[in-house]
Amino acid sequence: MSRYMAYCGLYCGACCSMITKEKQEGVPSATAMHTEADEQPCMGCDAEYQKDCEFVLCNKTHGTESCAFCPEFPCEMITKFKDEVWEHHQVVLQNLFRIREAGIEKWLEEQAEYWKCPACGCRTQWYQTTCTQCGEKIERRI
Ligand code: SF4
Ligand SMILES: [Zn+2]
Repeated sequence: MSRYMAYCGLYCGACCSMITKEKQEGVPSATAMHTEADEQPCMGCDAEYQKDCEFVLCNKTHGTESCAFCPEFPCEMITKFKDEVWEHHQVVLQNLFRIREAGIEKWLEEQAEYWKCPACGCRTQWYQTTCTQCGEKIERRI
């Protein structure tokens, strides 16, 4: 499973928790990115502390790598998740439909491209409105 794809359809490559982890690891695309000092690093969907996540449990029950491949998709649980207060959740259904249509690898490529700064091409985060590397204003993309 790619570290950038959550079972629920989130693209983790644009998440501040993943970027915090990758800064610690010295991943080049993450090292210059801004993260809050108290941000906790993400250890991924398969981390011990995520074992009670409803999407991890449900996908394991269904034997699926993503909600996109579940015969019950789109179920009530994922639809409620989409409608929660965090704006980055609002794209999970469109992400999951795209994963189902195009496959995981293609979706990951598209997302990596989508989350690049339009001016300098560096990686950016979900809620970022200014590129931390070149200073370009970035329109909100969620
Ligand atoms: S039932 Fe819903 S939450 Fe569970 S794996 Fe299927 S789509 Fe995901
Ligand atoms: Zn830039």
